[in-house]
Amino acid sequence: MKDTAFYKDKLDAALVAVVTELSTIGVYDAVNDNWEAVPDQDISNEDADENTSADFVESWNERRATLSDLEREYRDIKRALKKIDAGTYGICEVSGEQIEEKRLDARPDARTCIAHMNEESQLPM
Ligand SMILES: [Zn+2]
Repeated sequence: MKDTAFYKDKLDAALVAVVTELSTIGVYDAVNDNWEAVPDQDISNEDADENTSADFVESWNERRATLSDLEREYRDIKRALKKIDAGTYGICEVSGEQIEEKRLDARPDARTCIAHMNEESQLPM
């Protein structure tokens, strides 16, 4: 594995990018360290005839789905940064083995080695 400073730079940059994206569709709740989707003002301010409210619901559902994907990414990045501080970065959360360098290069916030990739989505947030 490369020096953790290499991955920290990538993670810091990825965190800025994901927070920027999250801020366009949601608000941050600092008390609970949580992101909440906010409705699209352009659509919610329009007269609510049937079409616009259907559009609104669709857009709202899309936003919440996007936000939850981004929030997972946000949490993975924050977790990886904490691991760097704690000295546990690059360890598979399933097997406790070293995560392959090529996997960390592709995804610095990876929580598992290649053999346990499929179990990653089942790990607690
Ligand atoms: Zn593993």
